[in-house]
Amino acid sequence: MARKSKFQAPTGMHDILPEDQPYYQRVFQVGEEIAQFYGFQRIETPILENLELYEKGTGASTDIVEKQMFTLKTKGGDMLALRPEFTPGIARAYFEHGMVDRPHPVKLYATGPVFRYEHPQSGRYRQFHQFNLEVFGEQSAAIDAQVIQMFYSMLSDLKFSHLIIEVNSIGDSQCRPYYKKLLANYFRTRQNALCADCKRRLRINVLRVLDCKEEKCQRVRAQAPQIIDHLCDECKRHFRSLLEFLDETDLPYHLDPYLVRGLDYYTKTVFEIFSERLAQQEQEGGVSRNALVAGGRYDNLLKLYGGKEVPAFGGAVGVERVAEGMRRFGFPAVHEIVPRVFLAQLGDLPKKKSIRLIEEFRKARIPLAESLGRDSLRAQLARADKLEVQYTLILGQREVLDNTIVIRRMDTGEQETVPSERVVEEIRRRLKKI
Ligand code: ATP
Ligand code: MG
Repeated sequence: MARKSKFQAPTGMHDILPEDQPYYQRVFQVGEEIAQFYGFQRIETPILENLELYEKGTGASTDIVEKQMFTLKTKGGDMLALRPEFTPGIARAYFEHGMVDRPHPVKLYATGPVFRYEHPQSGRYRQFHQFNLEVFGEQSAAIDAQVIQMFYSMLSDLKFSHLIIEVNSIGDSQCRPYYKKLLANYFRTRQNALCADCKRRLRINVLRVLDCKEEKCQRVRAQAPQIIDHLCDECKRHFRSLLEFLDETDLPYHLDPYLVRGLDYYTKTVFEIFSERLAQQEQEGGVSRNALVAGGRYDNLLKLYGGKEVPAFGGAVGVERVAEGMRRFGFPAVHEIVPRVFLAQLGDLPKKKSIRLIEEFRKARIPLAESLGRDSLRAQLARADKLEVQYTLILGQREVLDNTIVIRRMDTGEQETVPSERVVEEIRRRLKKI
């Protein structure tokens, strides 16, 4: 039982405890392996950016900017925001550092915490982590398919199965305005059946009504006009090309004509990846189906920051959702180093000699555990037993004076005394035999 402490983590924020770390590490490790194979380079941007970057990029009428931003005013009077997503910061850095003059596409990946003032619930935090991919300067749908493939591979390497990729196109500035009008007309006549938020969305950003997680809004949505019936030629061609690329892979995709993204800057392709197994559990638990990965194409964002049109594609993994799924399903995490040797020391002088001896084992890359705070041999052997090491080294007063050390085989209790300068080699030889 956790003892009640005077302080708790802020609402919606959580500690990632030592026992959870191997899952998180595994997610980042697999992600980085894939990113590097595909020629992505790591970038780190500040956790704080100018608030305006998000208002202009992510969009002032999005949930994120409207309701979910953590903002602060600096002593100098600047308005900053804790990043709610990676893309705007990376796009800013791209122009700020002249990456626009590098060979394209410029492929970047980033990992770290993001912040959104959300209503906390299962799979929804106010500080969470993302693994993020961005490609700048490529308009071919081949990139859309490749990035989707990368995220899918990442989840399947982490041992997720029964994955489903939802894709859609949300058009561009050519075709979307007309579709938005159609959609607004449709929802306006059914306004009474929508939630209060959607009534407002209807006025400021009608596409977001499609994204609402309320059941009653989803019911109204079921008969709404579909954007794929209203794409312009260019968007239609791009979408068809994406589906052709996806058909060439074994990726289990599904066209969801109502999939939109919560951000303003998306154009053409949008996608989300779900685990059907997790979604089923979420449904049984009465919570909404959470995407593990989401992203899409954003050909209009960079122009807002740098004046130059640069097509782009990106997406992000919700690391908490993935790590929690891995843990729940018992998927493998990063292996922890398991010590195979224990050092027991008896008294002051042996304790002093131990520090150096432990370091010799570290240099030899032989994991060794100890319990320097304990003095009784019995307590130390009990600890060694618990750790299930194969050997315990016993260093007493006499051994220190003789320059020797005792090696005890834990399964038989057999003991042997060896010269202390040979102990690392002796242990290495013995461990090899097992
Ligand atoms: P949702 O529709 O679930 O709110 P989103 O569209 O806001 O997601 P994105 O901005 O695309 O999500 O973020 C990418 C991924 O980050 C999501 O697919 C999800 O896995 C994860 N994510 C988003 N919000 C949260 C949150 N509050 N807590 C934990 N993970 C999150
Ligand atoms: Mg959201």
